[in-house]
Amino acid sequence: MVPMRVLFVSVALCAAFIVRPAAQPAPRRVSLVVTNATVVTMDAAARVVANGAVAIDGADIAAVDTAAAIARQFRSGQTIDARGQVVMPGLVNTHTHAPMVLYRGLADDLALMEWLEKYIFPAEAKTVSPAFVRAGTRLAALEMIQSGTTTFADMYYFEEEIARATRAAGLRAVLGQTIIQFPVADAKTPADALARADAFIAAFKGDPLITPAVAPHAMYTLDAATLRAARALSLRHGVPTLIHLAETRDEVQTSQQQHKMSPVAYLDSLGFFGPGVLAAHGVWVSEPEIALLQKHGVGVSHNPESNMKLASGTAPVPGYLKAGVALGLGTDGAASNNDLDMFEAMRVASLLHKLQTGDPRVVSAREALSMATIGGARALGMDKQIGSLEPGKRADLIVVGMRTARQTPLYDPISHLVYVTRGDDVQTTIVNGKVLMRDRKVVTLEEAAVVREAREWAATVRAAVAPTPR
Ligand SMILES: [Zn+2]
Repeated sequence: MVPMRVLFVSVALCAAFIVRPAAQPAPRRVSLVVTNATVVTMDAAARVVANGAVAIDGADIAAVDTAAAIARQFRSGQTIDARGQVVMPGLVNTHTHAPMVLYRGLADDLALMEWLEKYIFPAEAKTVSPAFVRAGTRLAALEMIQSGTTTFADMYYFEEEIARATRAAGLRAVLGQTIIQFPVADAKTPADALARADAFIAAFKGDPLITPAVAPHAMYTLDAATLRAARALSLRHGVPTLIHLAETRDEVQTSQQQHKMSPVAYLDSLGFFGPGVLAAHGVWVSEPEIALLQKHGVGVSHNPESNMKLASGTAPVPGYLKAGVALGLGTDGAASNNDLDMFEAMRVASLLHKLQTGDPRVVSAREALSMATIGGARALGMDKQIGSLEPGKRADLIVVGMRTARQTPLYDPISHLVYVTRGDDVQTTIVNGKVLMRDRKVVTLEEAAVVREAREWAATVRAAVAPTPR
């Protein structure tokens, strides 16, 4: 017979043995782990995890922690070892016209109206078609994947073609069907354009990657009735409204002459502003107007390179930041930039405002990086889904190499991301949990074919703007 005390001890040992596995649960299976990196989360606490890792489960981020903690908690069939690299949220380009990459470098160093009227409008009139837009979007998507952009906001024509090409490339996008007063390639009248936008929204609403939107071009290219109808259409569907706003002095003068009001005051008088509106440029905006945009929850897209190249002016970015406006960064179309590199946009934004204000403390590296990630997400009303690396958000992230001569030594990753990094330093791009580029090899697009197709289109574009032989 076993003595009572021994029996008690054995039972206790047995219980301890049985209980232990429950206290340390079996590692959870996930689809992908990116590990051994410096993880720049861009979360509210501005957390940077040295020797960190991100666990991805399907389309979502499961956890962000130290590499050791992630290794304890998760098992994955696929692991990306990002040693010596930075893992950060994918970049959010809040304003572009993707297919315009096919006009890249077509005409530079011209005044805005000459540039538009002699080159861009004639080229668009003769070349924009569904096939052109498809080829342009594929080229833009390739460039964006290669330079770390994972979400972009677009305003152009044949937006359903852009949506299909974007989805095939695996990128996330807010795509606005353009509404404009004069006849364009995909609509003869504003009513046609509105009907097109309506059908486009119905076709793509609920898509995991594509957020359809309405894009009334600007207050100076649309009458009041069409501006109101465009806004009403987006409100009816609960989708964003994308518009150019207060980009140039000319626009302000035209608005003053026609309406005796600034562009911001005019749109406000129409009841246009509210959450879900993204205003591109916002260059000529006064301090009370900044407060008005903030009050209405309007997002603003700052496009420093386009504003500088076209000499449009300097947007009051320190004022937007101070007022707490949801502020994102954009490249604008490649015809006025001339690329889609958001790292360059961050650097230029930071430098421009230091020079403009005479204060090197404004638009810090962290603020520029924030504009390109969580700020852009907020401006697009998508900050619950994207813009930072946090559990439950979509797995949109990039791996940035940090070992080139240009990036050595490395004291502060935030400083390097803004002041020395280029799009080409991006090694791996992941959107919605899917790897679109790994170690510089794009997997969703055939690089050589995309570039060849774009070169072929260039011949058509060149012919469109060449003087007609007499
Ligand atoms: Zn634009």
